[in-house]
Amino acid sequence: MLKPSPRGLWPRCSLSVSVAHIRRVHTAWRPGLSTLAIETSCDDTSVALLELQADDASGTNHQKLRTNVVYHERITANNTAYNGIHPLIALHSHQTSLGGLVADALAKYNGAKPTFVSATRGPGMRSNLTVGLSLAKGLALAWGVPLIGVHHMQAHALTPRLCSTLESLPDLYQGPWEPTTLQPSFPYLSVLASGGHTMLIKSTGLTDHQILATTNDIAIGDCIDKAARAILPSDVMKPPYGKALEDFAFPNGPADYNYTAPATRGEELTRRPTKWDWSLGVPLAERGRRMAFSFSGLLTSIERLMRQKAQTETLEPISTEERRDLARETLRVSFEHLASRILLYLEDTIGRNAEKSGLDASEKIDTVVVSGGVASNRYLRHLLRAMLDARGYSHIKVAFPPPSLCTDNALMIAWAGMEMYTSGYQSTFDITPIRKWSMDQRAEDGGILGAEGWLHDGNLLPAVQKSEAITQS
Ligand code: AMP
Ligand code: ZN
Repeated sequence: MLKPSPRGLWPRCSLSVSVAHIRRVHTAWRPGLSTLAIETSCDDTSVALLELQADDASGTNHQKLRTNVVYHERITANNTAYNGIHPLIALHSHQTSLGGLVADALAKYNGAKPTFVSATRGPGMRSNLTVGLSLAKGLALAWGVPLIGVHHMQAHALTPRLCSTLESLPDLYQGPWEPTTLQPSFPYLSVLASGGHTMLIKSTGLTDHQILATTNDIAIGDCIDKAARAILPSDVMKPPYGKALEDFAFPNGPADYNYTAPATRGEELTRRPTKWDWSLGVPLAERGRRMAFSFSGLLTSIERLMRQKAQTETLEPISTEERRDLARETLRVSFEHLASRILLYLEDTIGRNAEKSGLDASEKIDTVVVSGGVASNRYLRHLLRAMLDARGYSHIKVAFPPPSLCTDNALMIAWAGMEMYTSGYQSTFDITPIRKWSMDQRAEDGGILGAEGWLHDGNLLPAVQKSEAITQS
């Protein structure tokens, strides 16, 4: 059995390499490790209790990990009266919801105490983060267990690895559970497409996530939400607006897609005409192969077009058919733009530009993971697969975590905490929330491990980023 080291910490054992060191379990379910996790970075208050059981499957080299979700709930602040997230409404919602969720989670655990506590430390709204982190500290101190201050974006990037271990999420996974190798294994590409972020990330290790492209202006989810508010007829306008736009654009689901992927980059950059008096331009078309995203120009064109239509003197300034075509084009152009940067990276590393670009292709990517709220869009799944196939990347696997794990949730915080903890990391109890925190170790703040307050195998790591507690927001 695994024993705590003399410093009172669990010995270093990375999930990716040395699962055999985790407590051995046999037929009946017995957790090896467990964590209570809290997420309060934005407007979702979420609590999870996750157990990890590991078995080294002796006789084979297969790493078999199983996790059991004891509890997972989320309450989202009611921001419908506002055009976006209202910080005070979100804060109030965390303050009123968190205690009840934690009490429910603990009731489900029959009084047992978890091995450690995980909470989102950043990036996010500082006062909101404080609600979750402070309670996590209190619980960990009262129980006498370690604390892990989790990087929210790292948790998004690691979520697909959790999915291959999940034993029980009956609403998400049907049929008998099969133990799997921890997938995807590093390195892999992930696209984070959410209300607040649009990023292409290369993940090469637990704390090594390189941001290959990010948005120059607004996030794709923000663009889609605002475009939906401009395009949708009032009777179908309801949050999440991205889903409402998808349902409106494709009322019959895939039967309505009728999508042909551009066969070349040249074709991808060409504006597609419509039967109406408008067409949508391709974002950053004039910027060549620049590794960035931009969605504000697209949103401006859509809003301008809808304003112009509203100014016409006719009774019905825009027909349902035209609105539907605009909804389809909005989604097509946004998603092709998202896919275009994946294709550029693949071309430069394993594709036709690999030699010329000089980019390191030594670690071959074979998986692209798409997460964030926008990833639950089924048309995006179809379009991305079609674009990869059309450009010669049929061998690249595309993985989408289940929608409920794509939006902000505490289960991903629990899993990231679990990966960090089993790799020897813990946080000190003087950590404070971090509003802006890169996950790229090449960034000025040193990325995930650049923040102060990380212990590794009991030793304090040197920090690049100092406490933000007394700096201005
Ligand atoms: P997140 O920021 O990860 O919580 O994701 C929220 C964003 O995902 C919002 O902008 C939603 O409108 C968007 N979203 C949710 N469902 C869909 C969907 N089916 N299609 C497109 N966007 C969606
Ligand atoms: Zn998030």
